[in-house]
Amino acid sequence: MDMGISGRTALVCAASKGLGRGCAEALAAEGVNLTICARTAETLEATAAGIRAKTGVEVKTVACDITTPEGRAAALAACPQPDILVNNAGGPPPGDFRQFTHDDWIRALEANMLTPIELIRATVDGMIGRGFGRIVNITSSAVKAPIDVLGLSNGARSGLTGFVAGLARKVAPQGVTINNLLPGIFDTDRIVATVTAQAKAQNVSLDEARARRMKSIPAGRFGQPDEFGRACAFLCSVHAGYITGQNLLIDGGTYPGTF
Ligand code: NAD
Repeated sequence: MDMGISGRTALVCAASKGLGRGCAEALAAEGVNLTICARTAETLEATAAGIRAKTGVEVKTVACDITTPEGRAAALAACPQPDILVNNAGGPPPGDFRQFTHDDWIRALEANMLTPIELIRATVDGMIGRGFGRIVNITSSAVKAPIDVLGLSNGARSGLTGFVAGLARKVAPQGVTINNLLPGIFDTDRIVATVTAQAKAQNVSLDEARARRMKSIPAGRFGQPDEFGRACAFLCSVHAGYITGQNLLIDGGTYPGTF
């Protein structure tokens, strides 16, 4: 299916690895020119070179921390008028809420709620003016079914979700959609680190720890970043103009509810 977005411009945040990279690659495969950012220049440049070689699209890079005002300014200077914005950043650490300090909460809110809102604020009026825009926020299945040790994530991402639900209805008349993608467990560096820790704690091999984790997923496997990226590309396509303000779980059937 032709997604109808060839030649469009996208800003994809936190995209040198994992889910952000999956989104960048899938958009590039549809002919979208990219600006991608991540904190480590070397990994970012390697990702950009790979995408350019595979797809021939233009890929600008900005090595920055997107959760800081300076980082956002640098990303927006490289890509001031994106047609597509994919919001992403690292997730907050786990822990018991009794130990979270005020500063921990501020960091989580900055990264997973206020940074996406700031980037939307900076880009949505341009999209409205051009009569086309697609905003996708990478959040978490924790928004739909909270994960007890991820209180910072549950809270900060729910704040973003509530804000987006309101704004999506306001910008819909001008051809701008805003949706959230909620990953379950995907095979990224972040999950490798988690499963490695579980393997140590359970005194089993990494393979055994992975197998145990997969058993809890109806699909029987972890998700792959490229399939996450394809879902993102569809939400950014011309065919998804009637889908807005939605929260799409991509979790291999893990969430047990009917809807
Ligand atoms: P990952 O560690 O594989 O990749 C993270 C990417 O983000 C890297 O490119 C890194 O450089 C970049 N990054 C991190 N913090 C940044 C910052 N402050 N500024 C700029 N770039 C930054 O992680 P992932 O698994 O792809 O996760 C992406 C997001 O999705 C995270 O918020 C994570 O909490 C959330 N999530 C992931 C899963 C999963 O199963 N992988 C599940 C639920 C939620």
